[in-house]
Amino acid sequence: MQRIKKGDTVLVIAGKDKGTRGEVLRVLPKADRVVVERVNIVKKHQRPVQAGRGQMQPGRIEFEAPIHMSNVMLVCTQCSEATRVGFRVTEDDKKVRVCHKCGKDID
Ligand SMILES: [Zn+2]
Repeated sequence: MQRIKKGDTVLVIAGKDKGTRGEVLRVLPKADRVVVERVNIVKKHQRPVQAGRGQMQPGRIEFEAPIHMSNVMLVCTQCSEATRVGFRVTEDDKKVRVCHKCGKDID
């Protein structure tokens, strides 16, 4: 069971984007990393591409690089606080995430 899922809102608690909230775009479970909207933006210079008539296309792309899961905290959907995540098993044997701050289910 994952602590953080795609579509969650998280708060960045370390690194250059500390304090930023954003939506989780991708989870990389094996690497323990997440890609968060507008967080850890990397500018990459591509080699200029020759585009017809000798024109050079501007070769710069920006994208969100993955950050480690330990650098983010889940923002609770119920109380909007960044929180540690607990788990509980419901009556119908489903595992749901629980907010440590307000005690409510997050899923
Ligand atoms: Zn909460």
